[in-house]
Amino acid sequence: MKSEPLVYEMSSPGRCGVDMPASDVPETELPKDLLRSNLGLPELSQLDVVRHYLHLSQLNYSIDGGFYPLGSCTMKYNPKINEDVARLPGFAATHPLQDPMTVQGNLAIMFHLQEWLKEIGGFAGVGLQPAAGAHGEFTGILIMRKYHLDRGDLKRNVILIPDSAHGTNPASTAMSGLVVKQLPSDSRGNIDLAALRRACDDSVVGLMLTNPNTLGLFEEHLEEVVNLVHACGGLMYGDGANMNALVGVVRPGDLGFDVLHYNLHKTFSTPHGGGGPGSGPVGVRADLVDFLPGPIVEAVFPDDGDDTPMYVLTQPLRSIGRMKSFNGNFGMFVRAYTYIRVHGPDGLLANTEHAVLNANYIRVKLRDKYPVPYDRICMHEFVCQGKFEGSDVRALDVSKRLMDYGIHPPTNYFPLIVPEALMIEPTETESQETIDEFIEVMRKIADEAVKEPELLHGAPHHAPVKRLDEVKAARDLVLCCMPAEFAEKAMA
Ligand SMILES: *Cc1c(COP(=O)(O)O)cnc(C)c1O
Repeated sequence: MKSEPLVYEMSSPGRCGVDMPASDVPETELPKDLLRSNLGLPELSQLDVVRHYLHLSQLNYSIDGGFYPLGSCTMKYNPKINEDVARLPGFAATHPLQDPMTVQGNLAIMFHLQEWLKEIGGFAGVGLQPAAGAHGEFTGILIMRKYHLDRGDLKRNVILIPDSAHGTNPASTAMSGLVVKQLPSDSRGNIDLAALRRACDDSVVGLMLTNPNTLGLFEEHLEEVVNLVHACGGLMYGDGANMNALVGVVRPGDLGFDVLHYNLHKTFSTPHGGGGPGSGPVGVRADLVDFLPGPIVEAVFPDDGDDTPMYVLTQPLRSIGRMKSFNGNFGMFVRAYTYIRVHGPDGLLANTEHAVLNANYIRVKLRDKYPVPYDRICMHEFVCQGKFEGSDVRALDVSKRLMDYGIHPPTNYFPLIVPEALMIEPTETESQETIDEFIEVMRKIADEAVKEPELLHGAPHHAPVKRLDEVKAARDLVLCCMPAEFAEKAMA
């Protein structure tokens, strides 16, 4: 691939891409210290700029561009109808401070999404405020803490978290001021029950469990885990980021979870990655509904026998408060609503089944080349290892080599309990042809790892950016978007 010159290098004095209209207001003096003549902005024609940004956009890897088996992230295809609907002016051009009577349709979307998430998760109430999964965890922990404090139980300060948990679990716990107690996993990837038994006492606020966990495995002793936690007065928090393995098959609320967050940007196909908006609604059991962050949308039926509801925003009685400005990331609600509505219960169930089938298919087709340390039926993802007999090739090398074949790498070195982890999640939206091609490439790379390890150590060879020095990047941060010599000129 030929490397494109930077936009600053293409600059030519006097070239301009815009025609400013003649001013139709009187000119005024700007304060002197706001005026700078040496900004050093590049001077380019409109076509130069368009080509520059188009080329940059083509360097981005995306789910629309190729297979994206990034475990834990559920990079499923984002159906374009979601985008069409989210862009309808009645949704996109409304303001959160409008009189609720003028945005009844928007509130109806939120209301029905709350209802469907309640139904899907088996919960009595859902709050849509949190902006992401980790934010949902934080919200859930605050709800659990308030539940104990409201009962006058002031001494509880521990959240139990298995060592197979997502990194956000201990992080959001620490943010809330509570203490993390880590639980080990047993040889089948479940929570070590003996350790859990020892940890369950009257200091426990709750247990935070990702199920299926980050090994892609369903907790085999879930009933026992739930009973132990409840018996010591704790609550069960479900990290629902992996709901893509459960929707339509089993409801966390029925399994004994008291609080759970959903990742609309994973399970319900709203786009994510690149720091865009997400959404992490929280569902709770009946006696926790009053603690939800507000506002919640309620449907009220006027007394005159009219069965058209009026939607109103309400604040739950003992709410932990507001977690996000206005009503949450409304555009994500519209997309998730559309996704659920388009698929219906049967479609959602089929998606779950295909996601699990695809992951198991890849696991079985790769396990003779890549060791699978917890090799049992997995859910929507699985973890294998990038290590090879008689070769010093590592998981990182495998991932870099995948880029040469035009495929996004799986998640690396996570979960932490598996050395050289490669965490693979194909999702349901990929065809068998795509998955077979991935398997073939992975098997080829495993052979290369033994026969031509140098090829892998040096990968990627064909990507726009070669292997980065990650240590240098972290130690020697460059936060300026200009080439150094240009920055110097601009500062002179
Ligand atoms: C993605 C993920 C999270 C965090 O969700 P964000 O929306 O990225 O904050 C938490 N737990 C698990 C298991 C996840 O996969």
